[in-house]
Amino acid sequence: MNNAMLNKLGISDEVISLGEEVLSQLEERFKKIDETAEYNQAKVLFAMQKNRVSAECLSGTTGYGHDDKGRDTLERVYADVFNTEAALVRPALTCGTHALATALSANLLPGDELLSPVGKPYDTLEEVIGIRESRCSLKEYGVSYRQVDLLPDGSFDYENIAKAINEKTKLVTIQRSKGYQMRPSFSVGQIGELIRFIKGIKPGLIVMVDNCYGEFTEKEEPSDAGADMIVGSLIKNPGGGLAPTGGYIAGKKELIDRCHYRLTAPGIGQDVGASLSVMINLYQGFFLSPTVTAGALKGAIFAANLYEKLGFKCVPDSKESRHDIIQSVELGSKEKMEAFCLGIQQAAPIDSFATPVPYPIPGYNDEVIMAAGAFIQGSSIELSADGPIREPYAIYFQGGLTWQHAKIGILMSIQKLYEQNLLGERSDEKK
Ligand SMILES: *Cc1c(COP(=O)(O)O)cnc(C)c1O
Repeated sequence: MNNAMLNKLGISDEVISLGEEVLSQLEERFKKIDETAEYNQAKVLFAMQKNRVSAECLSGTTGYGHDDKGRDTLERVYADVFNTEAALVRPALTCGTHALATALSANLLPGDELLSPVGKPYDTLEEVIGIRESRCSLKEYGVSYRQVDLLPDGSFDYENIAKAINEKTKLVTIQRSKGYQMRPSFSVGQIGELIRFIKGIKPGLIVMVDNCYGEFTEKEEPSDAGADMIVGSLIKNPGGGLAPTGGYIAGKKELIDRCHYRLTAPGIGQDVGASLSVMINLYQGFFLSPTVTAGALKGAIFAANLYEKLGFKCVPDSKESRHDIIQSVELGSKEKMEAFCLGIQQAAPIDSFATPVPYPIPGYNDEVIMAAGAFIQGSSIELSADGPIREPYAIYFQGGLTWQHAKIGILMSIQKLYEQNLLGERSDEKK
């Protein structure tokens, strides 16, 4: 093994060999990930061919964007890949939170109740819902909210979910990925089971899944398992690292039509919205997404195996199956979070010379530290790490446009912990 080039990046022989040792155990798992990627690659390719994506689709429109063939075709490609009747895929959806807020506010009316049967939703949704007071929250518009926490072992509390569903309950939101929590992420199979249970109690309920970070990690999506809407961000998995901005909502046509009305204006809906010059990036990014996601998954598994070996608690752990690209590592202190992030930052292609420091971010309650030297600002399908500065001082690591880059980033994070003497005894060396 020639380490010279990795040494040049600042990674020591000791860290490299630790990595190689771990990697030698992961062949079988990586093979399964490649199989999923191949399946999803074929799925996306088929949808693009079926919808006759042409060179014309790649050039955008300006102004009102009437008759934007590229935009309309891309929405049909998304709908086919996600096995839904319709989709809304727009650069005008500014982020995942915006896409989720659009899907919720389009389909909840005053007097309706929103239910989360999987505990607290993602931090930024607290203000959308009104769990934390905010202007223009759903709460301000007269939409109430109810939540059923997961059981201590991370499973669904079916008994209390059944009790929570009442005549007002209109929409159920299920977050697939753990977000900034230490609970497990849910598989499509588990989500399908929960949806069947909920619809068994009240068949007319709308089920929305926050699909952020979950796309293409499995062969099926929550929409294959009964979700009425799935929602995500294009600067995560489905943008493939190339989409410069945007979000998507895919699902039943009557629900998606309302989302179009909410995003633009009542009566106008999906017929407007200039796609400017981003279409080529949205198509190419979606096309690359299955393999980019596979690389990120390999990185996450590699990180869990390495950090567990070093004695840290990882969620998911080194052996668990994967349903999103997020890897959290309980580092236990702010110092270690800073060292980890410094390693990720120094492994970046852009802004590698910067030092990440914790700071307050709109929408989040605690200070957050973020490491990202990304081509697309804030893109977390690219190599990145972040976490709120609070107990248990867990860092959330994700992305890497290629597996090789993810690997380098993880080795760098260990290098920094090592250099700052923040690594205790290795657990496998304990007597
Ligand atoms: C990223 C994310 C969101 C939305 O975040 P944005 O930063 O607004 O794109 C929502 N839910 C989950 C689970 C996420 O991971």
